Amino acid sequence: MTIKGRIHSFESFGTLDGPGIRFVVFMQGCPLRCLYCHNRDMWDSKGGKEYTASEVIDEMKKYINYIKFSNGGITVTGGEPLMQAEFVSEVFKLAKEMNVHTAIDTSGFADIDKLGSLLKSTDLVLLDIKHVDEEKHKKIAGVENDKIKKFATFVSDQGIPIWIRYVLVPGLTDDENDLIKTREFIQELKTVQNIEVLPYHSMGVYKWEKLGRKYQLEGTKEPSSLDIKKAKEILKI
Ligand code: SF4
Repeated sequence: MTIKGRIHSFESFGTLDGPGIRFVVFMQGCPLRCLYCHNRDMWDSKGGKEYTASEVIDEMKKYINYIKFSNGGITVTGGEPLMQAEFVSEVFKLAKEMNVHTAIDTSGFADIDKLGSLLKSTDLVLLDIKHVDEEKHKKIAGVENDKIKKFATFVSDQGIPIWIRYVLVPGLTDDENDLIKTREFIQELKTVQNIEVLPYHSMGVYKWEKLGRKYQLEGTKEPSSLDIKKAKEILKI
């Protein structure tokens, strides 16, 4: 039986989610509940629209010249792509047949024994570390971070390049000691190529409002450029 994936949307010319120009696939469904989520409309795993892996590749093919010319590729994000690991694996297998670079953008919240062959056809993992401390992670994302740490170590042990992403939220993720612990965790990983500090923003709040949900971080300010600089310096490896 052909596997189908539930997809929220596509972006044809992504430039932030991996090298070159990316065809970005936003998977529907996420097991996390991040307080600052700017994709609140992607939480419901029953939403979105069903696609087969070949249909996704057909969409991507429309932009293949731009992707190849820029040494880009396909990035699957969400939502949480690892919730539909088998489907993403099918998409990546087809992409690799076309010699297209593949990346997943993930929170890393998954059982590593349920990933199937996905990582075999994954060229890059963009890992969004929410918080290194277990309790604080739970407060921010609604789940503990033990699976995430195991996933990160597993990816590193497979020799797959990792780009770390860290959202800097004043009062939640900017504590100096926490940042030092985050760097220590990152240093344990062997394949980290890049660490990106993403300043908190409230651009996705309208999605919470549209769904009639209360946005709990109302009033939280964006970090100053000095805060960002400081965090970057601490996280630098
Ligand atoms: S992991 Fe991403 S999509 Fe899921 S709740 Fe967190 S920010 Fe939103």
